[in-house]
Amino acid sequence: MSVGEPSSAYVVCPVCGHVFRATYASTYVTVGREADLCPKIPGRPSDGARLIRNAVTMCPVCSFAAGEAFDDLDLTFDERYGIEERLKEDGLLKVFRKGQPPWLGFHAAEVCGKERSLKSRELGDLCLRASWVCRKEKERPFESTFQLRSLRHFMRSLQEDDLIGRELSVTTYLVGELNRRLGNYREALNWYVNAGRTTEGDPRVAWLDRLIDRQSKLAREQAA
Ligand SMILES: [Zn+2]
Repeated sequence: MSVGEPSSAYVVCPVCGHVFRATYASTYVTVGREADLCPKIPGRPSDGARLIRNAVTMCPVCSFAAGEAFDDLDLTFDERYGIEERLKEDGLLKVFRKGQPPWLGFHAAEVCGKERSLKSRELGDLCLRASWVCRKEKERPFESTFQLRSLRHFMRSLQEDDLIGRELSVTTYLVGELNRRLGNYREALNWYVNAGRTTEGDPRVAWLDRLIDRQSKLAREQAA
């Protein structure tokens, strides 16, 4: 697969059985990352948003969505039933299913992920990606909505998921950075300090130490 050319294939929805053509994520060129780790992608922001969106597949009929390839999913009868119920009752899906806003697949994947008992870290990641898409598509209010949801999942993840090493450091840092973006500068500063403690000068995460320093300075200026 060449860079920047997403592949597509027929897939079967594991919930409703609908067969459709899905576009899969491909590798793509990035020119660094923003401070919340959103990839910077050359070209128009909406093209970048589309590449990020390919990370999830959503069934056009029942709205089942997941970050994994549908073929790899083996849902139990109870899971399928639970997912159908959640998708039917979800308020945002009721309102936005027809309009298909760019963040919808991530939202649906989060709804389904809860029923599939995904870890909080993974649910947080879906919401974080949704916030990146919203920023690139200039959907301001939804960007904040997904940042807040991502923040809550990551906080729960720090309590429940037994994170270690790089994942612990990055998640703690993101709790700081999402707080900063939501205007909670004091909270952000506390979490940057926590994140710095988890890296313990590990040279493999020197990039993160630099980011923590830079964003702490920024949050202190913003808090002043
Ligand atoms: Zn379906």
